[in-house]
Amino acid sequence: MSAILLRGGRVIDPASGCNDFADVLVENGIIREVDFTTQSGELDALAKNMRAEVLDCTGCIVAPGIIDAHVHLREPGQTHKETIATGTQAAVAGGVTTVVAMPNTTPVTDSVALLEFVQSVQRDPSARVLAMPAATVGSMGGELTDYAALAEAGAVGFTDDGKPVLADEVMKKALLEAARLGLPISQHAEDTRMTVGASMNFGPVAFRLGLRGMPIEAESSIVERDIRLLEEIEREARLRPHLHVQHVSTAKALAAIRDAKSRGLHVTCEVAPHHIAFTDEAIAGDPAQGSRRYDTHFKMNPPLRSRAEVDACIAAVLDGTVDIIATDHAPHAHHEKNVEFERAPNGITGLETSLGASLRILNREHGMPLIDVLALMTSAPAEKLHLRRLGHDVGRIQTGAFADVMVFDAAAEWTYDVRMTRSKSRNTPFDGAPMLGKVKFTLVKGEVKYRA
Ligand SMILES: [Zn+2]
Repeated sequence: MSAILLRGGRVIDPASGCNDFADVLVENGIIREVDFTTQSGELDALAKNMRAEVLDCTGCIVAPGIIDAHVHLREPGQTHKETIATGTQAAVAGGVTTVVAMPNTTPVTDSVALLEFVQSVQRDPSARVLAMPAATVGSMGGELTDYAALAEAGAVGFTDDGKPVLADEVMKKALLEAARLGLPISQHAEDTRMTVGASMNFGPVAFRLGLRGMPIEAESSIVERDIRLLEEIEREARLRPHLHVQHVSTAKALAAIRDAKSRGLHVTCEVAPHHIAFTDEAIAGDPAQGSRRYDTHFKMNPPLRSRAEVDACIAAVLDGTVDIIATDHAPHAHHEKNVEFERAPNGITGLETSLGASLRILNREHGMPLIDVLALMTSAPAEKLHLRRLGHDVGRIQTGAFADVMVFDAAAEWTYDVRMTRSKSRNTPFDGAPMLGKVKFTLVKGEVKYRA
């Protein structure tokens, strides 16, 4: 059966601004009709004719599936942490229907063959898997990968995520090459010369714990440098390069991005839910944040920051400086995280908690309208990553679009229990954390991939 009727829900489609009761008919992977005259029964008759499965969406929001622009699926090479199959199962449980896979696999996804492997349906993905292959060969920061060939094979951008592209001339060349293809360079903004041996945010908490800290300038200086490169390229080559700044965590970097945008430069950025949910005090052990002292489930890069930086991130989401929410889902096995804080790898899982944490913080605690929070997770990533132009008609609930849909109860309050996770790994700071909004159904390519 290839037809589904989503009946009785409220459709929120940030792309069109639509926010009203409607039935949605899906057929062969495409949204066939959105009917706002739900009483007419016209769509019911049509659905019956098509022998469509009817999903009861009463009391629920019907929204585009979440597009997560920053996900580590760990395959190939680190499949004890996650596989494309398990990672995308976690995705659909969180309402995520498209993930953008990062290239720090083993080996690094820096060739067409590896890109095709990651995108292959043989990996049994439950969600749509797009990919950003490496910006430089082996993500070593030197020679560029073959951008034209990778773009042809489906790359939606280029990144050395986990590491920055550090050398000025390499970053400039990368921005230039990507601009010719209309694709972004996604930058992990960290001057690694300033973070050697550091395992958390630089500041009083790090002093207290005797841990070496990462200064905020390690992030902001790279963002500022990259913005200067954008200006240089626009001046010299008359191209308009696109810089996407990943997981921004500091007021200083956000100020640079805000300023660059006001000057018309093509800069976009993302913020991760954990950077607006927790502060670095968690690492000292903070019952209010659900953490133990030296809790490695609160270790990631960029690190959790001070209250002031967290507030700046939230303010930047509210004022529109932040373009999208992305999780930086980064699974690690128990034995890898269950070591001394300084030795533990960076990263936490996030696909299942992205919606619930974002709605709680932004919608409930800061009064951001539901449609605006959803925009940051659906229509905005589709638009900012040019996905429609690249042939992926995702991030909208409109006739003719891909039938990637999330149905959720926006009022449901629940507690995340990591024992229920679909991910292979359990390294999350959100275990036991309050969530707002619970996914009921997730459709990918017109098929139900998750049912609560
Ligand atoms: Zn990163």
